Amino acid sequence: MSVFNEKSVLVLGGSRGIGAAIVRRFAADGARVTFTYAGSEAAALALAAETGSTAVYADSADRNAVIEVVRNSGQLDVLVVNAGIGVFGDALELDPDAVDRLLRINVHAPYHASVEAARNMPRGGRIIVIGSVNGDRMPVPGMAAYAMSKSALQGMARGLARDFGPREITVNVVQPGPIDTDANPADGPMKDLLHGFMALKRHGRPEEVAAMVAWLAGPEAGFVTGAMHTIDGAFGA
Ligand code: NDP
Repeated sequence: MSVFNEKSVLVLGGSRGIGAAIVRRFAADGARVTFTYAGSEAAALALAAETGSTAVYADSADRNAVIEVVRNSGQLDVLVVNAGIGVFGDALELDPDAVDRLLRINVHAPYHASVEAARNMPRGGRIIVIGSVNGDRMPVPGMAAYAMSKSALQGMARGLARDFGPREITVNVVQPGPIDTDANPADGPMKDLLHGFMALKRHGRPEEVAAMVAWLAGPEAGFVTGAMHTIDGAFGA
């Protein structure tokens, strides 16, 4: 019997990159997986067909859409909030509306989705949010808004772990370093700068992050909550 047989999993932001690897991992481990997408319909439908999962359109910048998709997913055993964006550039020049949209996607959506999912979760439920090592370490300029959003998830996880602990629901943050996706390609212009900060001179693979998420969602991680789990080739060391 597979680890997640009969388990219901929702991944917010699952069409590409790390999210798609998480969808594939849970589907391979026997879960019933639903995932959301916003801009990448073709990729989402292809992934749903490949994995037997269900793709649902929901823009994480829209609080009501996030709450509705969680509510419509019924009783969840596992919620993974992966959707996240970057807005990079000189803080004095950035469009404030773009920064506010980043905060809606990267901070507000994880919070509201987590609270909504917990209303209906059984004992042993798992909430896992994809943060970033930039929540701990921000060694370059131009990324303050992004780093701020990922640090906010740390406080959220610590607090919600207290709120939901009595029901044995765990809340954790996975904090990747550079991972090879559309957002941060392994052969991109940042490659040498990023690898210069790291002990392992390579980008991580989305599947490596998905493996950590699967462990946190599984039966061996029941005593792990309110914690940050960094997977970064020592970018933050
Ligand atoms: P990608 O840009 O490759 O993929 C982002 C995913 O999030 C897509 O599936 C996208 O779906 C979804 N998404 C983005 N915005 C929205 C939205 N408004 N509504 C719904 N879904 C949305 O990013 P990564 O896979 O690299 O990143 C995934 C997560 O990991 C993010 O939270 C990111 O901050 C974090 N991370 C990534 C690192 C890296 O080096 N790659 C390092 C540290 C953290 P769609 O295209 O359908 O809109």
